Amino acid sequence: TNTDSGSNLDQDIIQTDRETVWHHLTQHTQFETSDPMVIVRGEGMRVTDARGREFLDATSGGVWSVNVGYGRTEIADAVREQLVEMCYFANTAGSIPGAKFAAKLLEKLPQMGRVYYSNSGSEANEKAYKMVRQLAHMEGDGRKHKIIYRDRDYHGTTIGALSSTGQFERKEQYGPFAPGFVSFKHCCCYRCPFGKSYGNCDIECARDLETVIQQEGPDTVGAVVLEPITAGGGVIPPVPEYFPIIQQICRKYDVLLHIDEVVCGLGRTGEWFGHQHYDVAPDIVTMAKGVASGYAAISCTVTTESLFERFKAQPQERLGYFRDISTFAGCTAGPAAGLVNVEIIEREKLLHNVRERGAQLMRGLEWLKQEHELVGDVRGVGLFAGLELVSDRDRRTPVAEQLAAAVAAHCAEAGVLIGRTNRSFKEFNNTLCLSPALIATAADIDGILHALDQSLARASNKQAAIA
Ligand code: PMP
Repeated sequence: TNTDSGSNLDQDIIQTDRETVWHHLTQHTQFETSDPMVIVRGEGMRVTDARGREFLDATSGGVWSVNVGYGRTEIADAVREQLVEMCYFANTAGSIPGAKFAAKLLEKLPQMGRVYYSNSGSEANEKAYKMVRQLAHMEGDGRKHKIIYRDRDYHGTTIGALSSTGQFERKEQYGPFAPGFVSFKHCCCYRCPFGKSYGNCDIECARDLETVIQQEGPDTVGAVVLEPITAGGGVIPPVPEYFPIIQQICRKYDVLLHIDEVVCGLGRTGEWFGHQHYDVAPDIVTMAKGVASGYAAISCTVTTESLFERFKAQPQERLGYFRDISTFAGCTAGPAAGLVNVEIIEREKLLHNVRERGAQLMRGLEWLKQEHELVGDVRGVGLFAGLELVSDRDRRTPVAEQLAAAVAAHCAEAGVLIGRTNRSFKEFNNTLCLSPALIATAADIDGILHALDQSLARASNKQAAIA
């Protein structure tokens, strides 16, 4: 890696960026006085910044998005050709890539029937909530409108999606929220909300859904929304019994099951969709990020055919159709990119690679846990993993936030970008995240583990100095 100063042009860009762009999730006092990253190139698993520093990216673009890796000219070419041929028409009409991509997605989700397009994960979830609410109005008096969510899950940035988000720390400054969203407990065994241990718990976290439905009144609850594996809330896979119990409760109370695959979808966990690891049949599946691996903005709300039929069954003169539109869902770049993205995952057998490399990654992380007192818990499925850092293993005390930040910074110095789950919370904020692209090689995984090993050792020294 080259840490010398870049060209004048690069210096100019850094300066212009500093003066003009308001960055996401960024404290700008720090950003403006530190050495910012302006990413200028990407190829495969690697990105280069304006100063010429090269990094192995174990985050897939910072937020688990670039599933097939950087520099895919094949996707860029398909998008270019499509835009020249037919760039945009509102999605009230059809398009060639829109139809082809929907058919392709439904191959991967055989129990589902319809694909509704929009532009981001938040929006895909908003569409789902609107469908649930409209069903309540079309088929009843609107009472069955409530949406139950889990208290560590994230579903997006818009007010509706944020109202259904459980991470207190992300919400606290944005209230008041939309009414009709109610939470139930998360399912992290390492920090069991009921103080129980797996094997002896009757999966109380799943049964909490029933308690909440009963408290609210089953005739008021329309849907439950869940991440298959909680991502930003701490990388929390459920135990195998979890989803069948959730499903059974949903059926008992006639509550729709909405699974948010924004992070887990499109191969991240070694199946096309995260929920396919579990015995569960959702009514609604939403997805974004990996749908076009970041080469275009596209998200989808996919429903069963029977849910779709309930809209069709309504007389036109009442509320008989879904009165919703997102302008840019008519841009053909999204489905054109999505189609090639899925073809690449198929052709390069990336699901198989994710399973193999994911197993290697988990073995390596378990080894790091043995080697480093700082690692309290290791969780994950496929190329989607989290290491929760603690200062005291017996008490499971989360490390200070600065320490988790230091490990990430040490990794970056060693040329590897890793992620962190959401910050500034008493628990769970100190989980490091690994989500390399699905194309990762054995050497890439080794490189990530090696950087982590060294960075954890450096951080342990700091921790010792603090203690
Ligand atoms: N759902 C989940 C599970 C997510 O992780 C995210 C984004 N981090 C979203 C929804 C929202 O997606 P977007 O940022 O595209 O609106």
